[in-house]
Amino acid sequence: MKFSEFDLHPSLLRGISDLGWTEATPVQTKALPPALEGRDLLAAAMTGSGKTGAFLLPVLQRFLDRPGKGLRALVLTPTRELAAQVGDEMKALARHTRLTSAVVFGGVNPGPQERALRRGVDVVIATPGRLLDHLSQAWCRFDQLEVLVLDEADRMLDMGFLPDVKRVLAQLPAKKQTLFFSATLPRPIVDLSQQLLDEPARIDVARKAAPAVGIEQVVLPVPEPLKPMLLLEMLRRNHVETALVFTRTKHRANRLAEFLDKAGVTCDRIHGNRSQPQREKALAAFKGGRLQVLVATDIAARGIDIEALPHVINFDVPGQAEDYIHRVGRTARARATGTALTFASPSEEGELRAIERAVGSKLQRLRIDGFDYNAKPHGRFEIPIGERIAEIRARKRDERARAQAKEEARKTRGTQPSRRADGRPARPAAGGGEGRPGAQQARSAEGAGRPDSRPNRRRRARRRRD
Ligand code: AMP
Repeated sequence: MKFSEFDLHPSLLRGISDLGWTEATPVQTKALPPALEGRDLLAAAMTGSGKTGAFLLPVLQRFLDRPGKGLRALVLTPTRELAAQVGDEMKALARHTRLTSAVVFGGVNPGPQERALRRGVDVVIATPGRLLDHLSQAWCRFDQLEVLVLDEADRMLDMGFLPDVKRVLAQLPAKKQTLFFSATLPRPIVDLSQQLLDEPARIDVARKAAPAVGIEQVVLPVPEPLKPMLLLEMLRRNHVETALVFTRTKHRANRLAEFLDKAGVTCDRIHGNRSQPQREKALAAFKGGRLQVLVATDIAARGIDIEALPHVINFDVPGQAEDYIHRVGRTARARATGTALTFASPSEEGELRAIERAVGSKLQRLRIDGFDYNAKPHGRFEIPIGERIAEIRARKRDERARAQAKEEARKTRGTQPSRRADGRPARPAAGGGEGRPGAQQARSAEGAGRPDSRPNRRRRARRRRD
């Protein structure tokens, strides 16, 4: 169905056309009419289906039809990446309007979020934890709220966020339109939807668990220790130009990124132990074509949207069929085509069969001609957890010893005559070029922890004489 058939505001149609969208996706076609009427929605829709547009467009249309003041819509998402992505789509769709939005998530300085909330925005897109921090403050008020969107509600359940979500919900006005999106509908999600929704329109475009059409799905059986070499081989032979590669654990993501890096492949990694700026930097570099490979764990990759991503590689077979579908949905977004490769070791055959049952077909197996399946692996790929813990403990012990030595050195210096009674360094003579407070500060920061050198001692003695 064409967007022009939905009677949307011309400024929204311009935003849609800027994004290059011509036809509404099935979830948009089904969700827009009831949502535009102001009805509640219960939509089973997967990532990659165009669900973000399905909830943002009715929100924006409502606010353009009936201008108002204050924070009028809240979108709750499970991850920072998804929040950022919804925020980007909101900005793009609202580009030709005056409607404003703010994205609120943890792991970054809350100052800019607070300022945006104080200034006032029409739409807030937030993860529940950080939103709760703001909600306890005067600048975050929801009394004008008209629309609540829950995005990927089942993910919030999986990630243990449901209690936080419920705490947020308890602070919202009772009368509002609620648009409830979830890829699957497990019992706790159905219960929550029943509490929240009033005679909702039900939309189900995801009942059959299957990735979007247009994705070629191939399984590459390989002995576990040879997985890194197989990936390298695929990259070297140009079978794969750029790829988002999923690993089962953060440790495996780190080790794979190290392995590829040593082999000269430009790559970075995103996972739960990486800070938000690190994740954003890696994602921007990958999107900008500066990285050949981005290694990710499921949680970190949720909501990543990279246009024209030709390859998704499951370095490990996902334990849940649903994760497989989510991962594979990263490629071939909305009508493009892509390839999803799954490296499967003999011990992962069971998980693979569960996936095949869920997607309803047997996945094609492929052997790479010329790859030595009997090769001896280079070193160990995974370091056992016991060894890693021992290494962390040893590092911490070293750090503590260094800190203690530094503290003792500081105390010894504190007793020398060049220090004032309060232990701070004596002030340099006024008028000298070195007397700038900035320069002094920079020097002492740089010098922190270094043994007092002879030239430094001489310089201080000279200053005392002056
Ligand atoms: P979503 O499921 O909302 O994460 O959307 C997946 C991708 O599809 C995003 O890159 C959207 O920009 C894109 N998309 C959403 N709606 C359409 C549409 N009607 N036509 C083409 N692409 C779309």
